[in-house]
Order: sequence, then structure tokens, then C-alpha cells
Amino acid sequence: MKRKILKLIETNKALSKSRIPGIDYTINPYFGCEFGCSYCYADFMSRFSKFRKVFPDDIEWGDFVGVKINIVERLEIELKKILAKSSLLGEQEFNIWFSIMTDPYQFAEKKFLLTRRCLEVLLKYSGEGFKLNVGVLTRSPLVLRDIDLFKQFIGEKSIEIGISITTDNDNIRKIFEPEAPTIRSRIKTLEKLKENNLKTFAFIGPILPMDARELANQISDFVDYVLIDRMNYVWRTAAIYRANSIEFAMSDSYFNVVSEALVEEFSSKGIAVEVLFQNKG
Ligand code: SF4
Repeated sequence: MKRKILKLIETNKALSKSRIPGIDYTINPYFGCEFGCSYCYADFMSRFSKFRKVFPDDIEWGDFVGVKINIVERLEIELKKILAKSSLLGEQEFNIWFSIMTDPYQFAEKKFLLTRRCLEVLLKYSGEGFKLNVGVLTRSPLVLRDIDLFKQFIGEKSIEIGISITTDNDNIRKIFEPEAPTIRSRIKTLEKLKENNLKTFAFIGPILPMDARELANQISDFVDYVLIDRMNYVWRTAAIYRANSIEFAMSDSYFNVVSEALVEEFSSKGIAVEVLFQNKG
């Protein structure tokens, strides 16, 4: 059994300004991520955070999580400030997303409910002089617990929920994301969200070895749109590809072929699809 460390930490910031186009702020209720995907960009970024020093130097990504125990109160303070500014500047609109540097529905969320309580705060303060568009991106079926809240995002508030699905093949998932929920459970999650008439999307990224057409067929009934991205830092996972004799799937040409097949399949079904990387073919 691997050593896992969970610590309660205090943050002085709930809303982080985002450099991602179309997103104004992100909320990361946790530091670190128990799913510990081998290719995770947040692993690299977390090394520059003051919270990394709270954990032993030699602990691996996925084996620690900091619970930002005061984030709900911080969010309320920051939203009140934004609200005060908005009333001076006139109606404003913000896009706020959970989460870019962690999974908002990892195991700790079941106990600590930080994502849920932050959503409640967003619900309370939006619509009073500013319009709020909330996005959620996760790999976890735990997101279904909060359907009751998602359904309240109407009128001045809107919400979309994305599920990251990187392959159709659970054996491949086990190689790159051994501690994350199964592919089947993620597809079921999308299905249930759609049954509840929520706006959903699939984030197919990074592209892992897959049968692109099979994956598109399995999820196309449950998504409003699809985003696609390649493995961006191949050098970080090259050893994993080699150890499993799947080097063919780490080339630019593989990412191009798969994304083209996905675009073709989803487009033929009338589903909007956006590729987030430049075709290097
Ligand atoms: S679920 Fe997301 S944040 Fe967590 S390890 Fe995987 S890629 Fe990183």
C-alpha cells in the first residue's frame, strides 16, 4: 500500500486569475490530486507552490493532497468584493471554472465537500449585478452528487460539466491513470448528467492510445460539445510508452490521425468539436 498524506491547509486566495482564453477565474479547492495521472501538468506546476513545502520532498504526485479548509469563506469574501466593483462598473459577466490544477471531485471531496460548498456560494452571490458562468471539469462520478446544485444554475447563472475521457480502453487508462475512475464509469457519468438535462462536454485529452471511432460512438449521445488535446509533454511519459510497447502512440502523426477521426465522427453526428493543438502534419 502506497503512503498517502492528507493535510489541512489555509489559503489566502480562492479565485485565481486565469490565462486560459474564455476563463476569468479558476477555483482549486485542493492542492495536489489523488488521481495522480502520470502526465499531469499540475504535478510540474505544484513544485512552485508554497503548499508543496508542507509535504515531504520525496513524496510522489498523487500521494498527497492539501485540503484548503478555509476556501469557502475566502470565496465569499472575494465574491463580495467583485460584486461591489460590479455595482460601480455596471453589469459584468465572469467565467469561473473548477478546477485546472486538481480534480474537484477527487476522493477527499466526499468527506470535505469543499467543491459543493463553493458551488453553494457561487449560487448565492451570482445574478446580483453580475452574470456567472460556471464550468466543472472532472474524471469522477462523485460529480453526480451535486446535480441538485447544478440544476439551480439558471437565468443569470449557467453551468457546464465536463468529463475527461482520454481513451476508450480501460487497460490503457490503467497504465497512465491507475488511480482515476474507470472509463466506463466516466461515460456513465456523462449519461446521467445528460439525463438530467445538463450541458455537458467531453474533454478528450491528452489523447492516449484509443479506437477513436469507438470512443466517439460511446459518448456522442451524452455530450453537447467536445474538446480534444494531445499529450503535450511527451518526454514526461516517454518511459511509460516504451515500457508498454506503445511508442507508436506518442508521435505527432498519431495525435493528428486520432484527432481527425474524432472530428469526423463527432461532426457527422452534429456535435461541435474543437481541437486545442496545432496539427503538426
Ligand atoms: S485528474 Fe487532472 S489534476 Fe488530477 S492528476 Fe489527473 S490530470 Fe492531474
